[in-house]
Formats: sequence, C-alpha cells, structure tokens
Amino acid sequence: MLTKEKASLGLKLYQFIEKLYPICRSITGNGVRETLGLIQKEIPLALHEVPSGTPVLDWTVPKEWNIRDAFIKDPKGGKIVDFKKSNLHVVSYSIPVRKKVALDELKRHLFTLPDHPDWVPYRTAYYKEDWGFCLSHRELERLKEGDYEVLIDSDLKNGSLTYGEYFIKGSTSDEILVSCHVCHPSLCDDNLSGIAVAAYLAKSLSKIRTRYSYRFLFIPGTIGSITWLALNELRVKQIKHGVVLTCVGDENHPTYKRSRRGNAEIDRAFVHVLKHSGADANVIDFFPYGYDERQYGSPGFNLPVGCFMRGQHGKFPEYHTSADNLQFVKPEILADSFSKCRSVFELLEYNRTYINQSPKGEPKLGKRGLYQAIGGVDRQASEMALLWVLNLSDGDHGLLDVAERSGLKFDLIKTAADALAGAGLLKEKS
Ligand code: ZN
Repeated sequence: MLTKEKASLGLKLYQFIEKLYPICRSITGNGVRETLGLIQKEIPLALHEVPSGTPVLDWTVPKEWNIRDAFIKDPKGGKIVDFKKSNLHVVSYSIPVRKKVALDELKRHLFTLPDHPDWVPYRTAYYKEDWGFCLSHRELERLKEGDYEVLIDSDLKNGSLTYGEYFIKGSTSDEILVSCHVCHPSLCDDNLSGIAVAAYLAKSLSKIRTRYSYRFLFIPGTIGSITWLALNELRVKQIKHGVVLTCVGDENHPTYKRSRRGNAEIDRAFVHVLKHSGADANVIDFFPYGYDERQYGSPGFNLPVGCFMRGQHGKFPEYHTSADNLQFVKPEILADSFSKCRSVFELLEYNRTYINQSPKGEPKLGKRGLYQAIGGVDRQASEMALLWVLNLSDGDHGLLDVAERSGLKFDLIKTAADALAGAGLLKEKS
C-alpha cells in the first residue's frame, strides 16, 4: 500500500473507532445492536438474535442486560461517580440497585487500580448476579465516612444475544474466517481496533474477486463464538483458515498467536508476512486462554484459527482500563494491521501448487526471455526465485513451501511463478 493510501485508511479506521467509542457495549443488549448498526453502514452485515435460555454447547445464552443510568452520590448529595461520564464506571451486567449504603459496604462493591491511581478499571459480572462500580484509586481515597446513595438503573431480563455476520462468496466454498469481539464498552484497542480493521477488511474484500469465501463474525467474546459454533456445527468444515483480530491499534510490536494446530497454513502465512515485514514482530504459541481462538481451537473443532494482535492479552498496563482510550490507538498502526492481514489473505489466495512442464534438467530461461521478464530491483533474487519455483514445482509443494525453503519473499516467488506459467513452463495442479 502506498504511504498516502495508508494514511487515509488509517484516518478512516480511527474515525470509525471514535464513533464507536462512547457506546456502552456488553455481551448482550442495545449497545451491541447500536455497534452492529454502525458497522452496517460500512458493510451489509446480517444480524442474528439468539434468545436467552438457548442451550449452546455446554453453555446457555444469558439474560439480556441494558443500562440507562448509574451514579454514586456522597453524603452531601454530590455525584462522585457518574455512568454518563464514562460507561467503565459500572461493572458490566450489574443488577439494578437503588439504596443508601455505609462507606464500608460501598467499598465492597468498588474496584480501583492502586498501581495506576488515575485510571478506571474495566470489570464484568456476567455469570453471577452482583453489582459494582469502578473508579480511580484517587477518588476512592477521598471518600469519607457516611451514607452514600447508589443507583444502577439497569435491567437483566430474558431477551437475546445479538451478533453480526457477513459472508462474501468467493469462487470456491472454502472459507477464511475473521472474528472479532464486540462486547467491551469504551475501550479502543481491546475491541474497537479489531472491529474497525475487520469491517474495513470486509469492505475491501467485497470489491475484488477472491478464490476463498470470507466469513466475518462480530460477536460477544466467548459466549458469542460458542453460540456461533453451536448453531453452525455443520458449516465449520468449510473453514480452512481463520484469524481473531484484537488489540491491533497500539504501538506494541505485531504479535501472531499460532492456532492450536501450531503449523497450519494460516500460521505459516502470518509468520512469513511478519518475518518479511522488515520490522520486529512476535510469534507466540497457542495457549487455551485469551480470545475466541480458544473456542475455535477447542478439541472438538480444532479449527486452524490464530490470533493477530499488537499488545498481548493482559500484558500491557493499559489493558482493561480507561487508559485504553482514543490516545492509545494510532491511525498508522491500524492501517499497518489492516495491510498485514491483507498480505496474509493475498498469500493464501495465491498459495497454489504447480507442476514443472520441463522437469528434466533446467529449462533454458534466457531463450524464453524470462530473466528480463521479472527483473525487479534485486536481479539475483529474481533469478533464484525462478530456479526455486521450477525446482520445487513437482506437485507436492505450494508456493509458500517454495518461499519458506528459499528464504525469499512470497511476492517474488509468486511473480516468478506467474512468469514461468506465462512461458508455458508451469501448470497449476488441478
Ligand atoms: Zn478484553
């Protein structure tokens, strides 16, 4: 991607995050619907509503949570914590409360971060009926003895779990899955960066012809992927490659977490793209925690789904705090994450296997004008690419195998394969 294109895309991704930032999302409720509604302005997302109480694998779709207002008033009647100022102030899934409590009791329902006294933590109480507030540690330290008025105007009722799905049909029914979670409130990197990059990837892929079909899921974390897997058990065999996108807007090095399989084609594709990106990157092994890759990679499904991120789950200080805000994500990083994913998809699209049509001895390339045909900046590497492709095109090796074994970049290998096929020296294996 050109620098100018990248800058304009980065800005669009960032502006999309700005629009989504104020919404109070949770694993169910109107915040998720509003979020999916904004994504629908970018791509024709299909919305699914799954009723509370529906059994999904070993789980049950929970009650739906909605909230209108919440605050704590000090003994003098002044608001000291106000949901309307930040939705992080209320523990997600808090049951409705309206009462006066003494400071001691109140403190049992308050969460702070003593190590980062100015930040507000993000907490949830999804699967136990409880209530609570999150605030900065400095605010907590200022509280004096007395009776505090607490109000949480929420409801937890039978309703539904909402998720969004967008399917782009390719020339084959083999699918690439892209999944991101939509259940975190005002947190930019963990949640909104993945949503923005996924939506724009979908938008760009819908405009081109692809070999693979692409399935994009915008779902609440854990319960969303479990619900989708439960409702689509027969469809999952179409998924040939997949990636979960999260925390793709912060300034940490790009990180790819391998799928449970460890060396699936998607794993090798990400490793290749990161290795040849010219910048530092991390590749980490699968572990059964983190994001939805652990549901897709549960043993009964064992799908080749990795996770692409920058900052890693729970390992950066801003994680799940008010510091994961609009300053924490950067337009240029969002654009870079987008472009790395596009490179990976392009690699998968073109990772074909060929058969050398002149396999006995090296065919004479000069007389076919092939050395000039691909030229490029690094003539020696281009020539090596031609020789590697010819040598390994025995029907057993795809172009990614050639790229890995030669140490050359996939693009160069693909250009060489195109030139050789054009000269009649290669045929794609059917
Ligand atoms: Zn999270």
